[in-house]
Amino acid sequence: MNEKFPVPKVLISRCLGFAACRYDGQILKNGFIEQLQPLVETITVCPETDCGLGIPRAPIRLCMAGDGVIVYQPATGRDVTEQIGGTIASVLVDHPQVDGVILKSKSPSCGLYDTKIYQGIDKPQFLKKAGGVFGEQVLRVFDGQAIEDEMRLSNLALREHFLIKLFTLARFREICTQPEMGRLVDFHATHKLLFLAYNQSRFRLAGKIVANHPKLPVAKVFRLYREELTRILYAPLRIPGVINTLYHAFGWISEHLGPEEKQYVVNSIEEYRDERLPLQAVTRLLEAYAIRFGQRYLHNQIFLRPYPRVLAGLNDSGRGREVV
Ligand code: SF4
Repeated sequence: MNEKFPVPKVLISRCLGFAACRYDGQILKNGFIEQLQPLVETITVCPETDCGLGIPRAPIRLCMAGDGVIVYQPATGRDVTEQIGGTIASVLVDHPQVDGVILKSKSPSCGLYDTKIYQGIDKPQFLKKAGGVFGEQVLRVFDGQAIEDEMRLSNLALREHFLIKLFTLARFREICTQPEMGRLVDFHATHKLLFLAYNQSRFRLAGKIVANHPKLPVAKVFRLYREELTRILYAPLRIPGVINTLYHAFGWISEHLGPEEKQYVVNSIEEYRDERLPLQAVTRLLEAYAIRFGQRYLHNQIFLRPYPRVLAGLNDSGRGREVV
């Protein structure tokens, strides 16, 4: 297997370990981002300080006003919607090429799904939870990229999906710098097991694009493949798809194994199914056999090592593996 990983470009909320820019002058420590940082190119953003609200500053909140939502600073009575909106627009224009985004949860600016929207500027109750003013734009502009908030990334399944998507998109971005059909064929072949685990039917559609029977121009093939890639990686891995793929991978080495070794691998896969063993334990076992038997096809599969192993922490917030 190729040990070289691409360097993903990631946009991150600046308060997540990069600067003391929270409204109260605090910085937040995040172990996962600290681990990730040396392996990616980071671009940090803090819409609230970048638009001139200062540090420290009076907190802002999102409030219903008429049919829309405004960004309101209760302590000063100011509507800062335009001020922060202009900054957000320029950030998004300046950084269009990122593979992933990690934002601060619950923030009126950076929140992706869980920001409180208050009933009105003078109402203490909130109406619903939704994206913050920056978070919502990020989901729209970077649709298809790996996007998460730091709280959701404490869940093992979501974090694994985020990392797989982040490094796969970065790998694809790399081959796009020299778009040749041979490179796309290789990309598709080495991602075969990974994509089968994600979505079998989408994997086959991507295969048809690579086969290019209509003889489309290379640039168009790459564009169509990119769209399909986004669909393949849309939702986190699900256990049944992963189990099928593990057995598929097992098929490549099983003929070399004795009955006891075969049973050991099968037991390991079944322990993964029962959530008694992490996926990495099973893929490492398969990888070891691929090395031992010189099974290059299997050894080259990204599925066995979709992102740098140093990021493969097993800590989990306890919400379970099946997260939608
Ligand atoms: S959540 Fe976003 S806007 Fe708030 S301090 Fe962090 S980076 Fe700045």
